[in-house]
Amino acid sequence: MSHPIYIGGHWREGRGDVIVSRFPADDSINAELRAASLEDVEDAVTAADAAWRDPGWAQRLPHQRAEVLYRVSDLIMQQLDTLSRLQTRDNGKPLSETRALVASAAGTARYMAAACETLEGELPTRRSAEFMTFSEYEPLGVIAAITPWNSPIASDMQKVAPALAGGNAVVLKPAEATPLMALKLAELFEQAGLPKGLLSVLPGRGSVIGDALVRHPKVRKISFTGGTSTGRHLAHIAADKLIGTSLELGGKSPTIVCKSADVEQAVRGIAYGIFSSGGQACIAGSRLFIHERQYNAVMARLLEVTSGLRVGHPETDGVHIGPLINTAHRDSVSAYVDQARQEGGKVLIGGQAPDDPDLAGGSYYLPTIIEGLPANSQVCREEIFGPVLVALKYKDEADLIRQANDSVYGLAAGIWTQDYRQALTLARQLEAGTIWINTYKKFAISTPFGGFKESGLGREKGRQGIQAYMQQKSIYLGLDSTPMGWSQ
Ligand code: NAD
Repeated sequence: MSHPIYIGGHWREGRGDVIVSRFPADDSINAELRAASLEDVEDAVTAADAAWRDPGWAQRLPHQRAEVLYRVSDLIMQQLDTLSRLQTRDNGKPLSETRALVASAAGTARYMAAACETLEGELPTRRSAEFMTFSEYEPLGVIAAITPWNSPIASDMQKVAPALAGGNAVVLKPAEATPLMALKLAELFEQAGLPKGLLSVLPGRGSVIGDALVRHPKVRKISFTGGTSTGRHLAHIAADKLIGTSLELGGKSPTIVCKSADVEQAVRGIAYGIFSSGGQACIAGSRLFIHERQYNAVMARLLEVTSGLRVGHPETDGVHIGPLINTAHRDSVSAYVDQARQEGGKVLIGGQAPDDPDLAGGSYYLPTIIEGLPANSQVCREEIFGPVLVALKYKDEADLIRQANDSVYGLAAGIWTQDYRQALTLARQLEAGTIWINTYKKFAISTPFGGFKESGLGREKGRQGIQAYMQQKSIYLGLDSTPMGWSQ
C-alpha cells in the first residue's frame, strides 16, 4: 500500500505516477507513493473553493481562525524530535538543522496566529462631511502554494500559516523529492481541527501537477518558492490570469569582509553561511569579497576552519554537513566545479566527493573553495546550490559595490566589519532584500523577507505576511440625510 496523499480533507492514494522519497545518506527508500493526478488537482481545488466560502469557516472571526494555528504550533513542538528525524530522512540535512527548521515552523504558525488576531483594517482620514470610509481585509480564495525541497516544513508553513490565517484555502504542492513533511503537516492541521478542504497536499511533478494547479481558474494567487526560471514561468501564467504572485527565488549572495572585520568572527560566519545545509540554501553566501590587503590572512584562516568541518551521516551528532539531496544534484554541483577549473579557477579545498568508504552510498560533496576566477565567469554568476564558495578581491568601496551588485540576483548579502558607520553605508548600497551585518543566515519571522531583482517578488513573514494573502475592500458610509444627486 503506498503512502496516501491528502485531498480535500481525505487521505487516499493519489491517481498519478509513483514517486519515491529516498534518504540521501544511503539512497534507501523512505516511502513510495502515488502522486496526485490531474483529477486530484481538480478535486482539491473544488474542495478548497467550497471550504473557504463555507460559513463555518468564512464567518469565523480572526481570533477563532488563529486557534487552529496555535494548536498546530503546540502539536509541532510536542513532536519536535519525530518531525526533525522525518525531515532529515526526507532531505538529508543534519538533525541539528532540521530541529531548528521544525521549531521555526511552529514559531511561524504561532506568529501568524497572533498577527491574524491583531490584524487591523483602516479608518482613513475623512475627506467629506457627507460620508466616511473604512477598509477591511478579505481573503483571496484558493491559494496555490508550491515549495522546493531544501527546507520543506519551514517553507510550507511560511505559506500555509499566513494564507489560512487570512481566511483562504490552500492547495500545497511540495517538491517531488520531499513529499513526506508536507503530508505530515496536513496530518497535524487535521488533528488541530482545521475544517476539511481548507488544506490539500498534492505531491507530484511540477511541470504537470504544479502547472495544472496554478492554471486552474479557481486559484486566486500563486505563492512560490523555488528557482528563478520556474518563478518566471509562473509569473507569466499569473499575468495571463491577472492574479497575484509571491515569488521567493534564487540567489548568489555576496559576503563582504571589510578591513576592520573581526577575522575569526567573519570566517566562522562565512563558513556557516555557505556550507550549512550543504550550500542548498537560497541565501547561501556563495560569493566572498575580501579587501585585497587582508585577503591572504582571511583565506588562510577560512581554509583552516573549512578543513575542520565534519561531513557525515546527518543523524550523527556533531556532523556539520550532510549529503546533498540526490546524486543528480551532486553531479550538477560537481560539473560547476569542473567548469570553474576550465575557467581558470584554483580549487583550494574540496572539489570532490569525500573518499570515506562509509559515505560512498550517499550523495555527499566536500565543502569547496575556489579562487582566481574572473567575476564574470559562469561559476561566479550562476546559483550552484551546493557547498561551493568563490573568493574574490576588492580594492576599495566603489569597486566592491560594483562587483557585489553585478548579479541578476539580489536576495541577501553579508557584511563583516567593526565599523558600523561603514556597515550601514554599504548596506544601503547593496541591492539585496536582506542584509546581515556581523551575522549571517539568521531569521526572525517578524521581519519581512524577499528578493530584489531576479530573486523574487513580494515579501513573506512579518505582519504584512498575512496581508499578502488578502485583498482590501473599501466601504463608503453616507452620513448626509439630504437626497443626493441632481436637484429637480
Ligand atoms: P524548482 O524551481 O525546480 O522547484 C520548486 C517547486 O516548483 C517544486 O515543487 C517543483 O515541483 C515546482 N515546479 C517546477 N516546475 C514547475 C512548473 N512548470 N509549474 C509549477 N510548479 C513547478 O526549485 P528546486 O530545485 O526545488 O529548489 C531550489 C531553488 O529554490 C533554488 O533556486 C533556490 O534558490 C530556491 N529557493 C528560494 C528560496 C527563497 O526563499 N528565495 C528558498 C528556498 C529555495
